[in-house]
Amino acid sequence: MIPVTKPFLPLQEEYQNYLTGIWKRQWLTNMGPLASQLEMELKKYLSLKHLLFVTNGTIALQMAIKALDLKGEIITTPFSFVATTSSIVWEGCKPIFVDIDEKSLNIDADKIEAVITENTSAILATHVYGNPCDVEKIEKIAKKYNLKVIYDGAHAFGVKVKDKSIFEYGDISICSLHATKLYHSIEGGLMITNNPELLKKIAFIRNFGISGYDTFSELGINGKNSEFHAAMGLINLKYVDEIILKRKLLTKRYEENLVNFKASRPLWHKYSENNGAYLPFVLESEELLLKIKTELDKTEIFTRRYFYPSLATALPYLNSTDMPITDDISKKVLCLPLFYDLTEEEVDWICRIILRIQNN
Ligand SMILES: *Cc1c(COP(=O)(O)O)cnc(C)c1O
Repeated sequence: MIPVTKPFLPLQEEYQNYLTGIWKRQWLTNMGPLASQLEMELKKYLSLKHLLFVTNGTIALQMAIKALDLKGEIITTPFSFVATTSSIVWEGCKPIFVDIDEKSLNIDADKIEAVITENTSAILATHVYGNPCDVEKIEKIAKKYNLKVIYDGAHAFGVKVKDKSIFEYGDISICSLHATKLYHSIEGGLMITNNPELLKKIAFIRNFGISGYDTFSELGINGKNSEFHAAMGLINLKYVDEIILKRKLLTKRYEENLVNFKASRPLWHKYSENNGAYLPFVLESEELLLKIKTELDKTEIFTRRYFYPSLATALPYLNSTDMPITDDISKKVLCLPLFYDLTEEEVDWICRIILRIQNN
């Protein structure tokens, strides 16, 4: 059996060592020493000035919307994980979808201005599969119309545009450290901003709005994370370069093997490198996709239709909107197995089967 993804796990002894420390200190959560250490080490690793370790990527999105006091309409992409849209609705705002660019699969920045109204407060865009959005164009539009920008960088750990971390763009960026992501702390998330005042506000929001021994400054929530999660994050950070390298190697292997596959790869941002978070292919037709997926399922090679269906049509709490490019792409996109333990021999085997089914 080959799953589409498999979480990276270090040796159990390594985690055990951290547990011994936790048992000694008896400090389990609430911004403990391991959580602080993880924030410091991640800032160093990602070359960031400010960063907060939070419960998960979804709460990070919700706290970002809260921290920026967003109201009314938020422009977003229908081609993402459901949390991108649901957090907008959860915070009492209205998602306004803009179709994606058919090459990059990110929100089409050229279509944003057309949907801006006096009720628009922000743009919430996803760096899909870790491929950076057109951040410069989005920044220009945001400035022109005085809008806030949040980036869902759940897939974008370690991604840079030229030499700058992708997380430095927008008013706030978030990342997910969920077990299925490239780099994980079992459950977890990150919030990044370049604005120290905003960071302080988010730090209060993360801790119930408590700003001192007996004072409150904001409406807050419990967005903290525990020492047990931080420990996993600290250990995995030691291996993350190796993990990314292996994923890049396997990606290259797939691409070499699949030159005759009737499918295309997303067009990557010209000043950025694929971090190997996912391995999406856009197939020639949905028919070919279903044929390949069904046969692979039978062989117990599991793939995933990530993201299908379009968020503009799938959610029972929203009216459906037609997004022709997203509707088309989401029917034809398939993510192939990619994880640290996967071997080159397995990749070769998967590719042979795919080509055989296609040519049958
Ligand atoms: C995983 C994911 C999230 C949610 O992150 P969690 O840590 O699982 O809450 C949000 N957006 C995107 C694009 C994701 O892939």
